[in-house]
Amino acid sequence: MALAPEDTYNVQRMKETPEQKWKRVQAQVQDGILNAYPNPERRGCPDGAGILALARRSAQFDDTIEDDPQWKHVTHCSPCYAQYLETFKAVRLQTPVASAE
Ligand SMILES: [Zn+2]
Repeated sequence: MALAPEDTYNVQRMKETPEQKWKRVQAQVQDGILNAYPNPERRGCPDGAGILALARRSAQFDDTIEDDPQWKHVTHCSPCYAQYLETFKAVRLQTPVASAE
């Protein structure tokens, strides 16, 4: 017996884990940020190492990132955010969930 599509949707919403919620919220803000803040001259942008550090922290669900000035820049700069998303994907593929460090 199959569930109706809307039932499946509701079940998924109720069983949402913190990681799933994070992903859902991220997906909602992603498109907006990628279009809202063009910065062709890359004013005030962190370098690749700065982006990588932010990607690593968000991959570990580090809440303190919210207070980081570089993070605030990245979430208000379309090219940085695009770079962050690419870096984040790479970090998630490379980094084991439980780090031995
Ligand atoms: Zn930037």
